[in-house]
Amino acid sequence: DDLPASLYHMLLDTARRTPDATAIVDDWHRATSFSGLLARVDELAAHLASTGVSRGDNVGLLMHADLEFAVTLYAISKLGAVCVPIPTKYREPEVLSLVRAADLSALVAGEEFGSWAPSFEGLGVPVVWSRGVADGYGFAGLSGEGVDAAGGPEDPVIMMFTSGTTSAAKGVVLRNYNVCHAAMVYARLMGTTPEDRCLIPIPIYHVTGLIALLVQFVYVGATTYLHRLFDARRVLTCVRDDEITYLHGSPTSFAELLPLRDEFRELPSVRAMLSGSSYEPLPAMRAFHEWMPTATFQVVYGMTETASPALLFPLDSPTSVYAGATGKPVPGVDAKIVDESGAEVALGETGELMLRGACVTEGYYGDAAPGPDAEGWLATGDMARANAEGMVWVVDRKKDMINRGGEKVWCSALEEVICELPFVSACCAAGIPDELYGEVPVAAVVPAPGTAPTERELTDALRGRIAHFKIPVHVVFVDAIPTTRGDKPDRRAVRALVLDSLKTPTTEE
Ligand code: ATP
Ligand code: MG
Repeated sequence: DDLPASLYHMLLDTARRTPDATAIVDDWHRATSFSGLLARVDELAAHLASTGVSRGDNVGLLMHADLEFAVTLYAISKLGAVCVPIPTKYREPEVLSLVRAADLSALVAGEEFGSWAPSFEGLGVPVVWSRGVADGYGFAGLSGEGVDAAGGPEDPVIMMFTSGTTSAAKGVVLRNYNVCHAAMVYARLMGTTPEDRCLIPIPIYHVTGLIALLVQFVYVGATTYLHRLFDARRVLTCVRDDEITYLHGSPTSFAELLPLRDEFRELPSVRAMLSGSSYEPLPAMRAFHEWMPTATFQVVYGMTETASPALLFPLDSPTSVYAGATGKPVPGVDAKIVDESGAEVALGETGELMLRGACVTEGYYGDAAPGPDAEGWLATGDMARANAEGMVWVVDRKKDMINRGGEKVWCSALEEVICELPFVSACCAAGIPDELYGEVPVAAVVPAPGTAPTERELTDALRGRIAHFKIPVHVVFVDAIPTTRGDKPDRRAVRALVLDSLKTPTTEE
């Protein structure tokens, strides 16, 4: 097909088509056109080349979601090198171990990380620093002659670490065609146009912020607003004042917007909302439909390993028709559902979801984990079922099934029921070890504003709705659901919270 040869060529195409259109507006109110972005990219690429960065090198990117982030991403791509985004939430030891694990040849970093310079020096990794406020931003002392673009569809362009939800984060190698295909898929399925105004309020170093949002919008030629940190009121203020049309977040970030709906009643600019990265509760989806009735609210299922998109609702299937379904495989991606032996299950049966196709990685960096099998099928670690039309329901992670003496309780299904209770605003379930049953369900619950349910009220309310073996044996009430760095509900943390609360003697005992 006519996909650009690389991430850099993608920017080049857009800059030729619409040089003067606004590409990026960042948190410092700096607006840059596509031609302006391209000029900075070419400048930084020349400089990186002059410091020795070349095709195939891994180059770290440690920066907040500023204009410089976008410049760095495309500059690394121009050299045919591999961009390794480093989570800005990481602390120094975590950053250093990632720098080591990724064998970085160089690092491009924001000056706010300047105090770690001696450590980078100790590791022998040269750093290009991005200037900050006082110096008028940009990169200090750039030099170098213009360089030709290197790297084609088959070359790795991004090496990104998974969220580390189930085990240590794994480096996923994504090639230019994986990333370009993913951007094309989003643009096509979401009907994104150059007139769209998009906001990236979620971390830009994860697959969603980086590929589903930034890369897609540059591909289309839409305008992107960057927020350094997620702040619900700022997000909605930006949506209202800058007339944002397209909102993509995680269920946790969408949940933080809901309590502000009375303050931001009318947001007519929004045409599409997309939620991904973990299970989106139906009550929240219904609330968003009511809040912004002219906008669509869709779900996307994806992974770092698929450069983001894998299952998404086609625009012709309104969410309400398939309430609870996750979506259909996106163009270029095949899905199958298999049992423990690897054989495909019967239609409607639950098994592990396997994916193959244009977005899917060819493997992990080093030997972090086995990649796709010989036929290209990647085991997702997620359980799912499908219907005859190819609509897929992602049930849960394989690891998040609670096996209570043989009876199976899926955390996500339990959460869905608990979230339906009027005095619950959010919830996260987990399994804890049990002498009798092997494992039993527990939950952390955020009470709805103005309510103060007791554990007894909660379990009583569940009794008429779900089988007794699914009812959490312990409930802890919390102000907010603990999340991982990837902004996903952290079931391991919930397990720890509950076990901890059991150690503390309560008045009942
Ligand atoms: P790790 O692989 O390190 O344990 P992770 O799997 O959370 O972490 P990501 O690649 O960021 O790392 O997330 C992909 C996973 O997120 C999927 O395998 C799936 O479990 C979950 N996920 C993504 N989208 C959805 C969705 N729409 N509904 C339910 N789960 C989702
Ligand atoms: Mg994973």
